[in-house]
Amino acid sequence: MNWRTLLELDAACLFCQNTYKEDATWRSILGIEGASELCPACRKKLHPLQAGCAVCQHPVGADTVTCPDCKRHPEIDFIQRSLYPYDDFMQEIISTFKYRGDAVLATLFSPKLAKLAKTLGPFDLHVPIPLHHAREWERGFNQAELLGADLPLTHVLSRPEATRKKSKLTRDERHAQKTLFSVETKVDGARILLIDDIYTTGATFRSAASVLYANGARSVRGVTVARAIMRNMGEQSGK
Ligand SMILES: [Zn+2]
Ligand SMILES: [Zn+2]
Repeated sequence: MNWRTLLELDAACLFCQNTYKEDATWRSILGIEGASELCPACRKKLHPLQAGCAVCQHPVGADTVTCPDCKRHPEIDFIQRSLYPYDDFMQEIISTFKYRGDAVLATLFSPKLAKLAKTLGPFDLHVPIPLHHAREWERGFNQAELLGADLPLTHVLSRPEATRKKSKLTRDERHAQKTLFSVETKVDGARILLIDDIYTTGATFRSAASVLYANGARSVRGVTVARAIMRNMGEQSGK
């Protein structure tokens, strides 16, 4: 055994499970840290999301500040940042994590989300977006909660009931369902960070933010692992 092999450890990729050589750190030698990374091949498939729309980080043209989607919702003061674009690889990782119950994958992203949160903070409350109780029970965990594991989480929001098909709702019910969430604890004057796995249209976050503001929140921001990239977003601006 030479000096070089002494400093390398066999590690298993959290996602594809292939083994690879990893340079030993004092943490791994002391056994403080297990394999908590992706193999070099998987790491190469992660592309950090570049700067984009000032509000939601969606890619925009060179001299555009706000994307058309965010321009349609100027009434809510909200800023959202994500780690990665929701591309094929992210889709695979997130669905593995979410539906196959491979909750250990969350450890990949929770430290990175905590770091990202610092760029938007400071915050008084770190709030995971809740699932409906029925769905959380089915799945056994709430992904937003696991992804926020490196932040001091507070459960502020709840989802009162599973959303019924829109066509079956009366007008009043439909109006009530525009707010997906209810607020469980005092948020008066609080700077709030919302945490979720994917930012798609922003409807979920906007709904959470508006109910938090209605309850006296001072500011609401959000972080997610992935950001969906819409094709032809610019063309929708007239809608
Ligand atoms: Zn891998
Ligand atoms: Zn935007």
